[in-house]
Amino acid sequence: MHHDVIVLGAGLAGLAAARDLAAAGTDVLVLEARDRVGGRVEQTRTPDGRTVQLGGEVVGRGHTAYLRLAGELGLKLVPSYVEEPGSISRATAEGCSSGEPPHWFGPGDTALHERLGAEFTALAATVDPDDPWSHPDAAALDRLSVAGWLRSRHASPAVVRLWDIGQLALAGGSYERISLLAALRKSAAVPGAGSGDYDYEDWEGLRLADGSATLADVLARGLDGRVRLGSPVAAVGIRPGRCSVRLATGEVLTAAAVVSALPVGPLRSVAVTGVSEARLASLHRQRQAVAAKFAAVYERPFWCAAGLNGLSEAEGVLGSTWPQGEGVLSALIPPERYGVLLGTPAHLRVPELLAETAGMFGEEAHRPLACHLRLWGTDPWTQGYVTQWPPGEVMAVGPLHGTHEPPFYVCGSDQWVAGYMEGAVRTGRAAAEEALRRG
Ligand SMILES: Cc1cc2nc3c(=O)[nH]c(=O)nc-3n(C[C@H](O)[C@H](O)[C@H](O)COP(=O)(O)OP(=O)(O)OC[C@H]3O[C@@H](n4cnc5c(N)ncnc54)[C@H](O)[C@@H]3O)c2cc1C
Repeated sequence: MHHDVIVLGAGLAGLAAARDLAAAGTDVLVLEARDRVGGRVEQTRTPDGRTVQLGGEVVGRGHTAYLRLAGELGLKLVPSYVEEPGSISRATAEGCSSGEPPHWFGPGDTALHERLGAEFTALAATVDPDDPWSHPDAAALDRLSVAGWLRSRHASPAVVRLWDIGQLALAGGSYERISLLAALRKSAAVPGAGSGDYDYEDWEGLRLADGSATLADVLARGLDGRVRLGSPVAAVGIRPGRCSVRLATGEVLTAAAVVSALPVGPLRSVAVTGVSEARLASLHRQRQAVAAKFAAVYERPFWCAAGLNGLSEAEGVLGSTWPQGEGVLSALIPPERYGVLLGTPAHLRVPELLAETAGMFGEEAHRPLACHLRLWGTDPWTQGYVTQWPPGEVMAVGPLHGTHEPPFYVCGSDQWVAGYMEGAVRTGRAAAEEALRRG
C-alpha cells in the first residue's frame, strides 16, 4: 500500500505530526508497535474514577507548543501540584526535614545557593537554545558537568548536594554527569521570571484536567483509521519519491516521505538506509536517562494533616514524590537508582518504595488502595525516559540535532532540547510543517 507520508510511532510527536499532515489533505499512515497510542503518556483509572498517570504528567506555562495544541483541541488545563499548600520534604541518610533550608545546610549555604542560581540564569541567557553550538565557549561549557561548574564557582558540598538532589528528583541523571551546556540550553529554552536551573511554575505548573494521555487519545480519534497498532517497524529505506518501511512481520509499505517519531533508543534498532552517515551518526549518538515511575493511590491525601504538600526530594531508591491528584502520589526513580530497583526482587520493589514513602509521610503510606510501577527504562519501545546529555554529548550530537534530510524527517521529544511533552508536540508539528513545505 502506498501513502504520501508514513509516520513511525504514535506518541505525542507522531500523532501531532500526523494530525497536521492529515489536516493539509495528506494521505498519512501512523505505524505503532504497541497496542495503544500515547507512548510515554499512559493513564489508567481507579475503581472510584480517579485518573492515574503512569508517564508524562505535567506541563508549564513555558510549554507554548503543547498549550497551543491543547487549546486547539479544546482540552482544559488546571493548576498542578505546584499550587498545593504545605512544605516540601527531604529524605537523606541523616534523616528527614520539611521546608527550607534543607537539613544539611549550614551558615552561608542559602546565600551561596541563591548567588549561584543567579549566575546560572545569567550564563543561560548567553546560550541560544536553537543553536548552542554557536556559543563562543560551547566546547568548554559542554565538557564541564553542572556539578563541576558549581565547584568551580566555589559552591560548598552542601549546595552541590541541594542542586543534585533536585536534579535526581527530576530523574534526568545526576548533575555529576550532565553537561553544563545542555543544562543551560534547557534553561534558555523556557526562560522564566525566577533564577536557578529549573523553575517549577514554568515547567510543571499545569496539567490537563482529564489527564495527559487524553491529548494522545483525542489526537488518535481525529486520525480515524490512519493509526495501525501492533506494527513494529524493523527497517526503513529512504529514496526520493519512493521510501519503503518494513514491519517486523516482513510486510512492506511505501510512501513518498517518512517521519520518524521514535525515541532514540528504539530507533537504533531500526535499520535505516538512504540517509547520510553524518545524520545517522548524530541520531544514534543521543542517549536517554533510564527511569521508572511509581504511583500509589490512597483514600485521601493523608500527608496534608502534617502540613506537607506531598512533594519530596530523596536519596533512597526514590528520587522524588509529588501529588498528581486527590490522594494519588507520583514518584520517580532516577537513573542512578534504577539498577538498585531492578536488582530488588520484583515482589519486594513496591514494599521498598512504600517504606521510603512512609519514612517521609507516615505509616499510612503502607496502606495504598493500589500501586503502579512502570519500568520505562527497560521498556523495549521506550528504552529510557527523557533525553540525557552527559558532558561532551551536545558537541558530539552536533548541529544536526533535530534536523531533517528530506524525504526523511525526524521528530520526537529527543529532538528538542531536553525531551518533555513540549518537545514531542513542538518537533512533531515542525516536522509536519517542513514536510508540507517541501511538498
Ligand atoms: C515516567 C515519565 C514521566 C514523565 N513526566 C513528564 C512530565 O511530567 N512532563 C513532561 O512534559 N514530560 C514528561 N515525560 C516525558 C514525556 O512523556 C515524553 O517526552 C513524551 O511523551 C515523548 O513523546 P514522543 O512522541 O516523542 O515519544 P514516545 O511517547 O516515546 O512515542 C514513541 C512511540 O513510538 C513507538 N515505537 C517505538 N519503537 C517503535 C518501532 N520500532 N515501530 C513502531 N513504533 C515504535 C512507541 O511505542 C511509542 O508509542 C515523562 C516521561 C516518563 C517516561
